[in-house]
Parts: sequence; structure tokens; C-alpha cells
Amino acid sequence: MTEQSYISERKKMIEENLKAVRNDIAESAIKSGRDVSDVHLMAVTKTVEPQFINHALSLGATLIGENKVQEYLGKKSELSVPFEAHLIGHLQTNKVRQIVGEVDVIQSVDSVKIAKEIGKQSEKIGITSNILLEVNIGGDENKFGFTPEEITEKVYEISEIQGIRIQGLMTVPPFDVEIEKTRIFFSNMRQLFIDISDKKIHNTNMEILSMGMSGDFRQAIAEGSTLVRVGTAIFGSRYYNR
Ligand SMILES: *Cc1c(COP(=O)(O)O)cnc(C)c1O
Repeated sequence: MTEQSYISERKKMIEENLKAVRNDIAESAIKSGRDVSDVHLMAVTKTVEPQFINHALSLGATLIGENKVQEYLGKKSELSVPFEAHLIGHLQTNKVRQIVGEVDVIQSVDSVKIAKEIGKQSEKIGITSNILLEVNIGGDENKFGFTPEEITEKVYEISEIQGIRIQGLMTVPPFDVEIEKTRIFFSNMRQLFIDISDKKIHNTNMEILSMGMSGDFRQAIAEGSTLVRVGTAIFGSRYYNR
């Protein structure tokens, strides 16, 4: 396949995939009696080259998600259509200074230490950073995030930090379980989200419940997700060294 035909084929695929994902989101929302406009679609663009991200943006995907600070900063200037960007990957303390002010939301805050550093760097440049707290809902040893048992107390603690504002919760459930089990994790997340919202904690707007990926966004929507993070189902499989 020539480079030119690869590019046009891939763009066509992205367009069809995006349409299908949007249809599935709408269907899932309607089926569970939810308003379609309450579920936001994030196009997860890790490993995707800027020209294809721009294509998705031109088709109306307004929100993108990236995992790695360096990768995102390297691509950002090549993105030509207005967009909102969230960081969704684990953040190391020494990368905080580079990402603060460069994304609209940092979804993957998984320790008090990282929250403090985001607050400190945000204050330095005179902004308030929007963050979500990541919950390790499945108690998965290989995953980052606060435990369901500690999350409420951590929201109280982190809400006191200057320079940040908590906007909600995000989660990545364990991969290797059946879909019905995943649904229970999503439902537990929703309960945590509601319980924390009800406490009306100072400096905390519980607006975003970020859960659901390519394989499970339908179940996540059925359980109350307000933001689904979809990569593969839009852009196809990730080729890490193309
Ligand atoms: C990669 C990634 C996604 C998207 O995963 P897909 O299965 O490709 O849809 C969503 N959330 C996070 C945190 C990710 O790292």
C-alpha cells in the first residue's frame, strides 16, 4: 500500500469508527434512560500521529486524551483544530511542571503527593488546575489509584490544597474479568461518586465520572459514566513502533 492510500484508508476508517462509537454511545444512553448529552466522548490519541488526530477533530471529536506528558507535548503544536485535552496516564512528580497549564484536566491523580505538586506548580503560574482522582476500583495490584475505602477521606484532604480543583473521579477496572463483573466495578464507582457528591465538599465539583473504554463503554454508560475514553474503537489497534 502506498503511503497516500494508507493515509486515506485510515482516515476513512476513523470516520466510520467515530460514527459507530457515537451511535453506540447514544444507544447505550437511551437504553438506560439517560440523556445522550450527559455522556462525553474522549478520543484517546496515544500513539496516534497528529494528522489522524486532526482528522478526528475535524469530524467533531472535541476532547482528546493522552497518557504521556512527553508524547503529548511533542504533538500538541501540530494539532490544528480547537480541542480540549486531558492527561489520563500516571504522572510522575518530575513531569508535573511540564504538564500543568498544558491540559484542561489531569484525570490520573493517584496520590496526595502528586496533587500537592500540581497545586504548587499551578500556583506558580497563577492558575487553578482541574483534576480527577483515580480510583483503583478493582483493587488491582498493577494499577494506580486510591482504594475505594480511602477515596472519600482523600477527597477531603486534597480539597484543601491550593491551586487545584477536584472535578470528579476516574477509573480503569481490571482487564481480565468478564464484562458482567466489570459492570459491578462501574456500579461501585457510581455509588462512590454519588456519596462524595452528597457530602458537598469544599472546593470540589463532582461533575465528571470518567469510566469506560473501547471494550466496556456501553456497560460504563449504563452505570452512570459521564465521560468515556475510547482509543482502539476509533483509531484501530495501536502500533507502538510504526
Ligand atoms: C489507552 C487508554 C484508554 C483507551 O483504551 P482503548 O481500549 O484503546 O479504548 C482509556 N483510558 C486510559 C487510561 C488509557 O490508558
